[in-house]
Amino acid sequence: MFGVILGTGVGGGLVLGGRLVEGANAIAGEWGHIPLPWPGDGEHPGPACWCGQRNCLETWISGPAFRRNHREATGRDLAPDRIAEAARAGDRDAAAALDRYVDRLARGLAVICNVVDPEVFVLGGGVSNIPDLYDRLPAAVAARVFSDRWQARFVPAQWGDSSGVRGAAWLWDGPSPP
Ligand SMILES: [Zn+2]
Repeated sequence: MFGVILGTGVGGGLVLGGRLVEGANAIAGEWGHIPLPWPGDGEHPGPACWCGQRNCLETWISGPAFRRNHREATGRDLAPDRIAEAARAGDRDAAAALDRYVDRLARGLAVICNVVDPEVFVLGGGVSNIPDLYDRLPAAVAARVFSDRWQARFVPAQWGDSSGVRGAAWLWDGPSPP
């Protein structure tokens, strides 16, 4: 399983066979600081990231990035869950911002599928409270994965939006799995 945090920052953690993979340099799963894959018009060179690189996923799919992207397009400042609410209520600009967000998140996750092909993605962080993500990610990720037959589950972190990736990983392999 791959756990992702979509909060103020963006991170990830990989669990294979019930064990957290830390990697040779303890950076396995540092998914937030790889570049946005398949950049389109207006997505290159991309925003500067605090880490010193440009176009990191974190600069597109963190909670503040989602908020900024909607604000730059509409002039309205809404938190991510309110953007999704507005989209569901028929606000076309909010729906477009949510579409962009889902597409970018899906691109980032598709890269993980092509490398380690997880069965399950556990989403944590404040943006993981948006229910639309769970409905839409399967098709959005499938469109980018290099396989005709692909499926994975997307589930919210059961410790809530403040769960850490280690917590999500532990829960998934814990004594009382869901
Ligand atoms: Zn970065």
